[in-house]
Amino acid sequence: MTKSAQAVWDNCLSFIKDNITPQAYKTWFEPIKVVKLTDAALSIQVPSKFFYEWLEEHYVQLLKVALHKELGESAKLVYVIKMENTYGNSQPFTEKIPSANRTSLKSQEVDAPLKNKNPELKNPFVIPGIRNLQIESQLNPNYNFDNFLEGDSNRLARSAGMAVANKPGGTSFNPLLIFGGVGLGKTHLAHAIGVQIKDKYPEKTVLYISAEKFTQQYIESVKKNNRNDFIHFYQVIDILIVDDIQLLSGKAGTQDVFFHIFNHLHQNGKQVILTSDKAPVDMQDIEQRLLSRFKWGLSAELQHPGFETRISIIKHKLYQDGVEMPEEIVEFLANNIKTNIRELEGAIISLIAHSSFNKKEITLDLAKKIVDNYVKHTKREVSIDYIQKIVSDYFQMDVDTLQSKTRKRHIVQARQLAMFFAKKLTKASLASIGSQIGQRDHATVLHACKTVDNLASTDKQFRKYVEDLNKKLTV
Ligand code: ADP
Ligand code: MG
Repeated sequence: MTKSAQAVWDNCLSFIKDNITPQAYKTWFEPIKVVKLTDAALSIQVPSKFFYEWLEEHYVQLLKVALHKELGESAKLVYVIKMENTYGNSQPFTEKIPSANRTSLKSQEVDAPLKNKNPELKNPFVIPGIRNLQIESQLNPNYNFDNFLEGDSNRLARSAGMAVANKPGGTSFNPLLIFGGVGLGKTHLAHAIGVQIKDKYPEKTVLYISAEKFTQQYIESVKKNNRNDFIHFYQVIDILIVDDIQLLSGKAGTQDVFFHIFNHLHQNGKQVILTSDKAPVDMQDIEQRLLSRFKWGLSAELQHPGFETRISIIKHKLYQDGVEMPEEIVEFLANNIKTNIRELEGAIISLIAHSSFNKKEITLDLAKKIVDNYVKHTKREVSIDYIQKIVSDYFQMDVDTLQSKTRKRHIVQARQLAMFFAKKLTKASLASIGSQIGQRDHATVLHACKTVDNLASTDKQFRKYVEDLNKKLTV
């Protein structure tokens, strides 16, 4: 009498179900599909290599007993891993997931005999070599410590970064949060730490990811119904670097999942490195429990570089590009671009480009023209916080009042103006504007924009508000 694969597996499942928690059963056994039964070898399909490893590590005895009961001592279990390669690619987690009906092409069979000849192997399912998870770290080797020049403005962050790189997970700087304004080197420093760790500990799994991409992956995983895989993928990382975590603001689901990943990594002595354009106290719409985690380690600020540092960054850049520039021009640049190293680099690049295209020498005159243009064209984006501050000051109220739930007309109008300018002057989405201006939804923001437009064309007094504020916000 031969049993069908499904019947055998169903019996195994009911045995397993009685022996573990419903949650564990749901997570680890419901996603398994039975594939076939050949002789005493039962093939089951699991969603990922990680999944397979997890089963191996936690449920091997249970599986073994269940299978032996059904198929006798000669029972074998064969794993078929669906979506192989999904996690090891240069695009972690998202994108290249093959569509479900093509998976058979991509499947990898792992033959795992229950009866192992080697009695020393504790786990009879273990296949040597299969455990090496290969995760591309997404690090940019051009961002390293050697070319991250030191100055007073970054000394603390840089040396904390070094300490972490030398002993990831082994310092009290966990998490290490690097914060500071736009273009001050957060991303560069975060990569540098990762690059150095990879250099020193090649066996460690390092992953760099922007919070934006993390969010997209998370949303994708919810859509595809593999949120657990998503979490597990991140839980096996040794050093997790998340760039621009302020972008998690207002995204409750992503924050929640990140919270769990963070806790898991932290508890297991793994290193977490975060960057943000704000200090933790100033982060809006980030859950308190997550914020308090950020404060467990060290928050190190990248400040505006001083004159000397700006000079050495320029010189270093010129040296790297093999370009020479008179000292007075270097100083001119350093004197005129102060708050953003990216702009400083941008000005140098356009200066070099102009001079080489037009076969002109780099003169102070040319430098002046370029800096004028450059600074005009790259007017920094105003932040939503700044807009709220300017609007509240203008109407002589504080920001809390502006954000409050009151329906008082002048407060509502101020709030609507803040939303209108946030939409006009930043790249933030309606939803994100709403969540930053008093926890409103995107429809409220849209309504505010329309109302301001209408009032500005019908109400003289109101038009003056718009004009005044526009001046204040755009000069
Ligand atoms: P952020 O992530 O804070 O916006 P980035 O890390 O992208 O800033 O840095 C902007 C540019 O400035 C990058 O090209 C980076 O290499 C350069 N930069 C920043 N800080 C330094 C530094 N200390 N030494 C050399 N280059 C720097
Ligand atoms: Mg950055």
